[in-house]
Amino acid sequence: MSKIKLFLIFALPSLMFGFVAFGLNTLQSKDEMRKKEVMQFLEMYNKIYPKLYSISAEANWKSSTDVSEEHTGQRIGADETLAAFQGSGYVINQTKKFLKQKDNLDYLTVKQLEKILRSAASYPGTIPDIVSKRVQAEAKQSQILDGFEFNVAKNGEQKKIITPNQIDEILTTSKKLEERKHIWEVSKQSGVALKNGLMELQTLRNRVAQEMGYNSFFDLQVSDYEMSVNEMTQLMKNINNDLKPLYEQIHCWAKHKLAKRYNQPVPKKIPAHWIGNRWSQAFPGIVEGVDLNSLFKNKSPEWTIQQAEKFYTSLDMPKLPKSFWEKSDLYELPPDSKRKKNTHASAWHMDLENDVRSLMSVKSNYDWFETTHHELGHIYYYLAYSNKDIPVTLREGANRAFHEAIGDLIAIAAHQPKYLKEIGVMPETMQIDQTQWLLNEALDNAVVFIPWSAGVMTHWEHDFYEEKLQPNQLNERWWKYVSEFQGIEPPTKRGEEFCDAATKTHINDDPAQYYDYAMAFIIKYQLHMYIAKNILKQDPHNCNYYGNKEVGKFLWDLLKLGATKNWREVIKEKTGEEISSKPMLEYFNPIFEYLKKENLGKDVKW
Ligand SMILES: [Zn+2]
Repeated sequence: MSKIKLFLIFALPSLMFGFVAFGLNTLQSKDEMRKKEVMQFLEMYNKIYPKLYSISAEANWKSSTDVSEEHTGQRIGADETLAAFQGSGYVINQTKKFLKQKDNLDYLTVKQLEKILRSAASYPGTIPDIVSKRVQAEAKQSQILDGFEFNVAKNGEQKKIITPNQIDEILTTSKKLEERKHIWEVSKQSGVALKNGLMELQTLRNRVAQEMGYNSFFDLQVSDYEMSVNEMTQLMKNINNDLKPLYEQIHCWAKHKLAKRYNQPVPKKIPAHWIGNRWSQAFPGIVEGVDLNSLFKNKSPEWTIQQAEKFYTSLDMPKLPKSFWEKSDLYELPPDSKRKKNTHASAWHMDLENDVRSLMSVKSNYDWFETTHHELGHIYYYLAYSNKDIPVTLREGANRAFHEAIGDLIAIAAHQPKYLKEIGVMPETMQIDQTQWLLNEALDNAVVFIPWSAGVMTHWEHDFYEEKLQPNQLNERWWKYVSEFQGIEPPTKRGEEFCDAATKTHINDDPAQYYDYAMAFIIKYQLHMYIAKNILKQDPHNCNYYGNKEVGKFLWDLLKLGATKNWREVIKEKTGEEISSKPMLEYFNPIFEYLKKENLGKDVKW
């Protein structure tokens, strides 16, 4: 690692010198000279960045597929080297200087410069003291978060530790309200321990954003969408408002079901400890689930991933590169394996070209069938935008939400009965209860997730960074939004001695970008409805993408753009409409009609 650092230290001043010499020796107009200067800067950046990126990706891959202290150390070294380059004072100052004359530059150039400046914001070398404080504060916060011990002992009892998985297990299965309340309260213990660190991070993250010329850290994060803070919060408000009538029906239906389950009077708002999720971001276990796992018991893990590839090639997309099969890590390790790997599924773009890999532990069941289709969605996105027209800094999704939206879109396509029947997984005669299936989709993530993501998380983090919420305002603001958007209330009053927002991982270590997830849902249904209605001309609840080359072309044309176009234009061009929640509402309309009947005569407001 030290070799690369040395290279950088020598390389940067000489490149700088190159520009100065160039400036003195030409007689071109000032404007053209500036443009040339920008081009040379980008050429330098686009040459060095992929090299350091690849080294970092390779080290990260190694530390995820063969977990050891040594590999973690190498990963940290490689990440630091990349960050030192991206956040160097030279890169920041040049980029800022060029962006001052952005009116004279073309869109693609400006977009690259803005991307470069945002990448620098992780570790800007122009404020080293703040950077080192932030790195330490974030490391400390992660340590508290990862190592936190939830203690279920009541007053006077001996300490008894419980894991987050055990908390979730109890919250999804227990029917005893007293136990549920206690466990829910235990799940909020970590917030108290994280509160001071979060306050420190508010100051440090805002300071870094201001260094980059943004009003707050929230503003910096939102800028990735080429949107102002107001535009983003307005968009999230609109999404919430659009979905509210549907969510109110779901909320009403769920609270009656739950009141019956716990033998309680029906409340106005749902007590948080009644729900099977610690933050009520999903309402699991209320609808009778539709289990498809048994359909896959005669299929092998190898078949599962090969079928996922076939899905994409049937759309006329290329075969996966040979290196994908050679270098990926796709299957479960035997339990006695010395090597340990990360078991979370992921898709990797190793060199910003064609070295794409996936890390999975594929087994023969429905969940993995869907996951392999999802992960290959990321891989095909990488392959599509790794072309000569897309500068390396813009080899990303049209925005951060697009990558997830594409993977999830294909996951919708993968669970269509028509597709499952065509590939011989589902018996021709098997019938699915469409209403229960859709209801489950709405409660388990899609619709219930919107008031949480576009509502609570986005609004609270907005206030936290933009208004610089003080320690005596955090919990009050949190529960105000939970009540307003989700119609949920805590079992007992939660004062400022708690910090319930901090119990959510993202608030600590993936801050101020949760609206990504809300947007991914909206975009996914927008694309799916367009494809089903306009290209396939089939029922969006039972359609078949498989083998349709026109669908393939529609998707590939979108994927190959990378981040070279404004994402709102991309949606407009592809679907003929602005970003909109209408398609999602239309998709779930059968549920809306069904629930209106089920809830007839009941008060759906809270
Ligand atoms: Zn994904």
